[in-house]
Amino acid sequence: MNPSTATAGTATPTGSVSLVGAGPGDPDLLTVQAIKAIRRATVLLVDDLVGPGVLRYARKSARIVHVGKRGGCASTPQAFIHRLMVAEAQRGETVVRLKGGDPFVFGRGGEEAEHLRAAGITVNVVNGISSGLAAATALGVPWTHREHAHGVLLVTGHAGESNADLHWPTLAAAAAQGLTLVVYMGVQRLAALQAGMLAALPASTPAALVQYASLPQQRHLLSTLGCVAQDAAAAGIGSPAILIVGDVLRGCQALAAEPVPGAPMSAGAAA
Ligand code: SAH
Repeated sequence: MNPSTATAGTATPTGSVSLVGAGPGDPDLLTVQAIKAIRRATVLLVDDLVGPGVLRYARKSARIVHVGKRGGCASTPQAFIHRLMVAEAQRGETVVRLKGGDPFVFGRGGEEAEHLRAAGITVNVVNGISSGLAAATALGVPWTHREHAHGVLLVTGHAGESNADLHWPTLAAAAAQGLTLVVYMGVQRLAALQAGMLAALPASTPAALVQYASLPQQRHLLSTLGCVAQDAAAAGIGSPAILIVGDVLRGCQALAAEPVPGAPMSAGAAA
């Protein structure tokens, strides 16, 4: 049994919910556990950053419900998704809640697991490869490096419903200590994040964007903190993209000429 499996509450449902990470998009990056869970599912509730090829593993008889919600686009309210998961599990369905990347990395997996456990539903969590990791790999660089990066900070660039923004100069100061910054959901506010980070990092600090990591339409941009917002606008790089800032990128130019297995560097990327 997965250690994250847990039951609570008084209801006695026969169904269950698995929060499954679908990885960054390429179905070849699904875990074996994820494929098994998708094959077992009788109902799939699918986020919109799930790669289109991933659903090939679903049963023909499975009910597939798209519940995606991208910033600024038409969305399914989270409360509705919570109710739907509970209702389907209580009807005895084997529910898979399929999410892009990893369910516990900016995926609302924590909130959903808490809600399900409070309703007495069995919850299983299956990790996926997070897009921030796939984005670094697409550039041929690691998150950490014994010489230039002693840690990694995963942060959201989106202020969120509470509108509590992160203090970007503080994050930039951490990057100046040799941490790699990996920013999710940041591309729409790139100019503001750039301005915040420039308070504590030199304009020459390497910065890169990877859009659609692992998918056929993958693109990347290699730039500097001083120019990244302007370069992204000129190249037309939008969501979904990951911003990476830090010295690990210094190895990138050399590696960019080498093909990355399964994820060729995009020739169309502006650099
Ligand atoms: N749980 C997901 C993150 C969801 S938040 C994960 O672990 O990857 C949504 C953000 O993820 C997007 O705004 C974007 O920053 C990033 N993202 C998701 N898929 C991506 C992809 N294929 N390429 C680049 N960024 C991606």
